[in-house]
Amino acid sequence: MVGRMLDQIKGGLFGVAIGDALGATTEFMSAEDVRRTYGKVTDIIGGGFLNLSPGEVTDDTAMTMAVAKGIIRHPEHPMAAIGEEFLKWYETDHPDVGIIIRTVFSLYAGDWFAAASEACRKLGGKCAGNGSLMRCLPIALAYADQEKMEEMTALHSRMTHADDRAMEACLIYNRIAVRLLHGEPLVKAIRREVEHTRYEPFVNITPSCPPDGYVVHTMAWVLHWLLRCESFEDVVISAANMGGDSDTIAAIAGGLKGLEVGYSQLPKRFVETIVCAGELEELAVQLAGVRNSFGPSKTEDEQET
Ligand SMILES: [Mg+2]
Repeated sequence: MVGRMLDQIKGGLFGVAIGDALGATTEFMSAEDVRRTYGKVTDIIGGGFLNLSPGEVTDDTAMTMAVAKGIIRHPEHPMAAIGEEFLKWYETDHPDVGIIIRTVFSLYAGDWFAAASEACRKLGGKCAGNGSLMRCLPIALAYADQEKMEEMTALHSRMTHADDRAMEACLIYNRIAVRLLHGEPLVKAIRREVEHTRYEPFVNITPSCPPDGYVVHTMAWVLHWLLRCESFEDVVISAANMGGDSDTIAAIAGGLKGLEVGYSQLPKRFVETIVCAGELEELAVQLAGVRNSFGPSKTEDEQET
């Protein structure tokens, strides 16, 4: 049982990284441009607007790892540590920092929530980006206590995104992740968590919105691919070939699908390409450690509900 849990946690983290590395090739392209340029992207080949080497990852994986590191350092009150990890990453001067995150970082003066509110005002209220959704999975992996998990998920979104839609998407996503950790199949978990939310229609209809960085659009496409595709490979390849915010959409979708199937079931040709694999493996073991040692496990109770 412990082995399966670690396999899932590893699968979730690698799922994010694989989706990110695969989708980075087609980021900001239209689906038509992707077809014309590549036919179909089915392998991690790098390139894209960041001109990556195959297996290099972008902000989606980097910020996911930052959240994981913050939790591992201070599981009880991780927000300050998560913020420090964000800044460490930001100071390495990445070219792929999103507009909302970049604005928040430029305004940060000791209070993340104040910086996020000020950034939102500066951006004319347009702060419902997918930048907190893309990095929130480690919270679901680390906290077995549902109340703590939800509190941390909401707070962590608010650190950079002063918008309820961003927070809502993170909560739905991590609640689905918890169900997967409890052995529920992905499609069933999604159906239960999107019930009576703005995402319920996407169980039956294909989104007509663009696959862009607005969190509601991102989530609609993530759910679409997760509900329609059988395999991990299908999920991340489908998301990558749509273009748009493809690295982030493939990363978010890949995280949940990887969590469902587990690391041992991920395609080897993807896993072996990921440059930061060693670091991801280490973080997975440490997150599993937090999960085992921190807070009461509600697994059995929750399975009955
Ligand atoms: Mg990215």
